[in-house]
Amino acid sequence: MVIIDNGHGIETPGKRSPGDGAHREWRWCRAMAKRIAIMLGERGVQTHILVPEESDVPLRERCRRANALAGAHPGSILLSIHNNAAGNGSQWMQASGWSAFVAPNASAESKRLASLLTAEALAAGLGGNRATPPCGYWTASLAICRDTRCPAVLTENMFQDNRHDVALLASEEGQALIAQVHVNAVLKFINR
Ligand SMILES: [Zn+2]
Repeated sequence: MVIIDNGHGIETPGKRSPGDGAHREWRWCRAMAKRIAIMLGERGVQTHILVPEESDVPLRERCRRANALAGAHPGSILLSIHNNAAGNGSQWMQASGWSAFVAPNASAESKRLASLLTAEALAAGLGGNRATPPCGYWTASLAICRDTRCPAVLTENMFQDNRHDVALLASEEGQALIAQVHVNAVLKFINR
């Protein structure tokens, strides 16, 4: 089972584009999670949306849900879908591009999944203007990866405070590309 965490909620402060705030991370990630779930379903892969609510479900509860699912479905993996930010949301920034994160305690399988995701993102031209670590992923103590007991990767899908990235995120072309990155990597991970 592919558990898809679509982080943040409608009332989470910040987490939007500068200026008119047209891009909202919670809304974009929910739509992306659904899109990935539909595409994986078409390939015969079982998925579960971790946060069907629009509210901000605390990380502790999200980890509890994920661990219950992973326990009931051996072989599960978790994807946590996010948008990155370089600043505090008050102004447009320069950093752009896609990145994958694992926790410091990540398993070899988490790292393999992260590397596959990054390879797909770079092949799709989503690398942006920052150097990707040679291993293909960043490491950070993110609870949804750290406290879940299955391979888990958090994807930062472009910067919500970069004008170019926000335009890509708003476009059908960009959304299709980013969904396909996740689907391709998952299919390679499970060797289908
Ligand atoms: Zn986020």
